Amino acid sequence: MDLKALYMYAAVLALLLCSAATFIQSPTDVFGPVALLEPTPSSARDFGAIVSDAPFAVLRPESTADIALLLTALSTAPPHPRATVAARGVGHSLQGQAQARDGIVVETRSLPRTVVVVAARASGEATAHAYADVGAGALWVEVLEECLKAGLAPLSWTDYLYLTVGGTLSNAGISGQAFKHGPQISNVLQLQVVTGSGEIVTCSRTKTPDLFFAVLGGLGQFGIITRARILLQEAPPKVRWVRAFYDSFETFTKDQELLISMPEQVDYVEGFMVLNEHSIHSSSIAFPARIDFSPDFGSEGKKKVYYCIEFAVHDFGFSVDHVVELVSGKMSHMRPHIYSVGVSYFDFLNRVRMEEESLRSLGLWDVPHPWLNMFVPRHGIRQLKDLLMDTVLAGDFQGAILVYPLLTDKWDRNTSAVIPSAPDGVMYIFSVLRSADPSRCGRGCVEEMLEQHRLVADEACRVGGGGGGIGAKQYLARQPTQAHWRNHFGPSWDRFQARKARYDPVRVLGPGQGIFPWAD
Ligand code: FAD
Repeated sequence: MDLKALYMYAAVLALLLCSAATFIQSPTDVFGPVALLEPTPSSARDFGAIVSDAPFAVLRPESTADIALLLTALSTAPPHPRATVAARGVGHSLQGQAQARDGIVVETRSLPRTVVVVAARASGEATAHAYADVGAGALWVEVLEECLKAGLAPLSWTDYLYLTVGGTLSNAGISGQAFKHGPQISNVLQLQVVTGSGEIVTCSRTKTPDLFFAVLGGLGQFGIITRARILLQEAPPKVRWVRAFYDSFETFTKDQELLISMPEQVDYVEGFMVLNEHSIHSSSIAFPARIDFSPDFGSEGKKKVYYCIEFAVHDFGFSVDHVVELVSGKMSHMRPHIYSVGVSYFDFLNRVRMEEESLRSLGLWDVPHPWLNMFVPRHGIRQLKDLLMDTVLAGDFQGAILVYPLLTDKWDRNTSAVIPSAPDGVMYIFSVLRSADPSRCGRGCVEEMLEQHRLVADEACRVGGGGGGIGAKQYLARQPTQAHWRNHFGPSWDRFQARKARYDPVRVLGPGQGIFPWAD
């Protein structure tokens, strides 16, 4: 055991022997250069800014072995570990999921963030098998920058790229490419994981597959991902990005479904609700075409809502005009409201960064974010849209509502991710992305929004009953009780629980999700 490991082991042992309250005030004073550090304010903060649970200590691992040492020591302490552990990427969770009250936060950003790109074309293999081996603490934007140097890029994205690989693979990772390639968790070839018991395992679809699938969408419950092998494809130099407006929800969704039925031509499909002038302006910050759309939004009590589809076609320097013409010729948007622009592939993928900068400049980025994300089977989308209109949208709404379709057969049911049953294979993501400007909305008002979302989610997730129920599933949400979690997982709860018993038997990991509280 080298000196650093020895220090770390001493720190962990001390942690086990002392209660959190009596533990030495400053671990660093006592243990010198050990990796267990005093928490910083960011360890108890996330993007949601709704939950704040301070940990007892922070680990900034320099290697996978550092994490293994910590988890081995904690998981072998009888009868329960004295501290829980939460992996933290960049804390873009919404409800404290990457926090560990009185426990230890493992900051994965300190792991080596090397991105090794293996361009299979060079060795004569198919381009589809090119891949990147990346540190789990790397941001997707860092992965993109490195891959683009080899003319390659991952297939599936999130809208925002300043999220860690480990963080999004623990959820699902979706954006407008998911209809074609599935979520990010469908595009991983291999993972290196430290299980809750401290074992370092390299797993894939064929090697220790149960752990591989457990960890994908596993909400940080089974292990800490330290490296991931991500599938790559040839990156287009440019993208043709198109937006078209609608005044009918039915026509909007019909056209979205038309677009996702053309994966040979179309590379990206999303859409959003246009609620007011502000929606047009804020959604156009990154879209560098002049949009000449100023419809009548009606008046109080008689509001009119519009919709916008955005789709994109990769531009390899030939036939993109023809493809866009062919595709848009089949669409039924409001005439003449279709707008198209050519941008670099990097700028297209990084589009939300401009919105972030704009919100930061207005002091509206580091504010509470009561978000509601739901996967909704196709048959329930109209009902859910009406439910949102009657509740969330009836008042003063600040933010955006994304709506776009996904194909359920692109999701591997062996992973831990939860999606609804959708008999015709189509589900929609409804993302209510709200910001609570503190000058207009204090703590009580945020609580009201959360309560409103709880009611909508309860209604949308209901199955059966008089009205039939929509049968939606929440995405990225922390469920309030274990009973809610059981309900959320439905038939896959038993498998989830069995995987927990196998890979994290003393429940060290992921306390911030509240799935396996120690009390029960
Ligand atoms: P954290 O918040 O740090 O962690 C999230 C969860 O994963 C926690 O439970 C944590 O313990 C666990 N975890 C983190 N790292 C690891 C690891 N290495 N191993 C095991 N468990 C780990 N999601 C989408 O799908 N599509 C989007 O387009 C999208 N856009 C977003 C835009 C913004 C502005 C924000 C704030 C979020 C967005 N998200 C989106 C949600 C985002 O994917 C998740 O919140 C994701 O978890 C954030 O990554 P993170 O690195 O901040 O994770």
